[in-house]
Amino acid sequence: MSVQRFTIRNDRFREVPSQSIPVLICLLLSTASLFAQGTRSEKILFNGKIVTSSARTPVAEAVSIAGDKIVAVGTLESVRGTVGDRAELIDLQGKCLLPGFIDSHNHAIGGGESLLIATLNDVLLTNKELGKFAKEAIKTKRGLRGDVLYIGGVHSSTWVSVDSLVDLFNKEPFNSQGVVLRGSDKHTAWVNNVVLNRAGINAQFIRTLPDTEKKYFGINNANEPNGLVSEGGYRKIDEAIPASPVRPLDAAEKGAQYLSSLGITAWLDPSAGNVREGEQNSHLEVYNTLLHQKKLNAHVAAVVVANANEDPASQVEVVKKLQQRYKAVEGMRILGFKIFADGVLEYPTQTAAVSIPYLNSKQNGSLMFDPQKFKEFAAFADKERLLVHVHAIGDRAVTETLNGFAYMRSQNGNTDIPHSITHLQIVVPADFKRFSHLKIIASMQLLWANADSYVVDLVKPYLDPTLYRRQYPAMSLLSAGATIAGASDWPVSSANPFEAIHMAETRRGQKGVLEVKEVMTRVEMLKAYTINAAKVMMMEKSIGSIESGKQADFVLVDKDVLKVSSEEVKKTNVVWTMFGGKIIYSRQ
Ligand SMILES: [Zn+2]
Repeated sequence: MSVQRFTIRNDRFREVPSQSIPVLICLLLSTASLFAQGTRSEKILFNGKIVTSSARTPVAEAVSIAGDKIVAVGTLESVRGTVGDRAELIDLQGKCLLPGFIDSHNHAIGGGESLLIATLNDVLLTNKELGKFAKEAIKTKRGLRGDVLYIGGVHSSTWVSVDSLVDLFNKEPFNSQGVVLRGSDKHTAWVNNVVLNRAGINAQFIRTLPDTEKKYFGINNANEPNGLVSEGGYRKIDEAIPASPVRPLDAAEKGAQYLSSLGITAWLDPSAGNVREGEQNSHLEVYNTLLHQKKLNAHVAAVVVANANEDPASQVEVVKKLQQRYKAVEGMRILGFKIFADGVLEYPTQTAAVSIPYLNSKQNGSLMFDPQKFKEFAAFADKERLLVHVHAIGDRAVTETLNGFAYMRSQNGNTDIPHSITHLQIVVPADFKRFSHLKIIASMQLLWANADSYVVDLVKPYLDPTLYRRQYPAMSLLSAGATIAGASDWPVSSANPFEAIHMAETRRGQKGVLEVKEVMTRVEMLKAYTINAAKVMMMEKSIGSIESGKQADFVLVDKDVLKVSSEEVKKTNVVWTMFGGKIIYSRQ
């Protein structure tokens, strides 16, 4: 970073006739105000390639800012006069300046925690490596929740060889130690016998469950639980083990700092607590505290997990009370609800709701709401001006969610609330156009759109081939007029937007390319991670592009993102991140 400070000569002084006292006073006053402005942190950033995400001026070379706002964008000449003569000059040295990145689905607090605990970060280990990792995690205490070993970020392929987990963790030296392996997808887990016993999960318990919940617990040939737990079944584990020793405030601070280092200056937190917590929402309180302490340099939009099968009125009331409680908090807005339409597609969990049964189980997965109830819920929330952000992975979940939104629009007309569906792993062609017709934003984690082991080993053998080909249909949705917003689902996977951009335009994973016709262009991906994600957060008027009047949130990167190859773009580094006109992260 090169920051120079110098005063541009004020040529107007030369024209002042010395005898013209009133004019001189007037000019002195205006000069004084210019100086005052200079101290009010005016800046000109110049000599860069500024990729604005704005249709009006897609690329510029200079931008002026005053305080936390952008004043003008254009050539150095054109922006020079828009701020005072003492404006700080920041030479971008030919580097690339972008709007601060916006992530439309990011669990920043859980992400921060994942940086502070024992986590595998989705790396698939052999049994031997896993045993070694577990011992180390106990030794360093990073993996301990009280007396229980808790390892996060576990790759879903681990569940395929459940017998080897039983072998490893129900024997010496782990058999007197509680062990929890939590899937990186946060929908799955495996626990050993110590934890099963403590949670009261045994054959008798599973027998008493309704069919809809039985499938959340894996069983062996003798009908005994084998330790696999998914979806809502995990709540029993959570209640039986000690809480994380990481203070949520520390996790949030760590998460926010990390996201700044990736150039992310805004995100939608898709599970900022649960309506069940009522007004005592610890998640929102953490953000609130961090904002008060001025340790959160980002805009946060929050949605609270709700259950579409339950009464919408009381859940709306909870969110309205939360909005009231935090209405004065600058930097955090509570927009509405997160709803789960289904689970995940991977074997053995297979809780994603699909239109054609899984080849192994002949089941259609779990639609987690009653479609009729979701319709009523969405219509009620929309009427109360609350946003609904839906997790939908299987095509049946996507279709039913769109059906609900169609009903909502038919009841309420087109309110300007940008409801969104996230993940969208399988979408049937008949649904492509409905996104633009119904004005529903597609929030997509395109880092997942490739032939990796998740897709090739855990999905392909069990999914109807027609559905397999319909995975992550980004370009089809875009061509049908959908707005695609970038999202990471961090800490489920990397939050780095450049890794997602690389994958979206190659779709090439370790095991091949997934439907090459669905590749996205660079420009569309940059829009997805800036202006389009701002729309999901209902903030597109104030952030998401480099335009006059918007907040000065920028990221300076070391590559020309409009020119470099796909292989190069994923190696792009953030030089610094600016939030509201202040540099909040700088490399080195
Ligand atoms: Zn998520």
